Amino acid sequence: MPYSIAIDGPAGAGKSTIAKAVARELGYVYIDTGAMYRAVGLYCLNNGINTNDESSVVASIKDIDISISYDEEGAQQVFLNGENVSSKIRTQEVGAAASTVSQYQPVRDLLVALQQKLASKTSVVMDGRDIGSKVLPNADTKIYLTASVEERARRRAKELMEKGETCDIREVEKEIEERDYRDMHRENSPLIKVPDAVLIDSSDLTIDETIDSILDIVIKR
Ligand code: C5P
Repeated sequence: MPYSIAIDGPAGAGKSTIAKAVARELGYVYIDTGAMYRAVGLYCLNNGINTNDESSVVASIKDIDISISYDEEGAQQVFLNGENVSSKIRTQEVGAAASTVSQYQPVRDLLVALQQKLASKTSVVMDGRDIGSKVLPNADTKIYLTASVEERARRRAKELMEKGETCDIREVEKEIEERDYRDMHRENSPLIKVPDAVLIDSSDLTIDETIDSILDIVIKR
């Protein structure tokens, strides 16, 4: 039986860095579900679809094909209608579009089906907002990874600057707060800490300490 580790939490909590490292350590496949919602957001931006207009977004689903593969280093690559969009989806604008389109149930149905299919074949570390609650409710280990909003904004700003994007830390903090609010208060699959998830606050932890604390939880099970 494949083993599954679900890692949920708000924007900028370091989920992808941590999940990737935990997967590497255990020899599991890392699945970044946010990248799939970002690909749908990018499709809407590229095609002039107003992300706030649910019926237009839902009508475009039939034209969207999302698939995943892994490069030689094992890094997840996301394909939108055959085009590798893995770098194009990493902007604040696409993140905000992803957060808006992810509110719509038909968008979630499309991507949750893909995520469940991927996890049925192999042991995975999957990160997102609804993994422990909806995608893998029977996951072997569930983690809710968070950090203070100031710390998350600082990390996200550093990441953006390393990619050559200019940003204002207060703007990043505001954007994170808005995204958290939308993700936690939406009707469909809001971000929640499920009762059986272990809470890890990484505000004062290094990346290695956070990885170790998750590996400890996995080993103790
Ligand atoms: O994690 P990331 O910042 O890439 O996610 C982008 C957006 O996609 C999130 O703000 C959230 O609205 C949405 N998302 C989701 N469910 C997931 C993963 C991401 O709704 N499992």
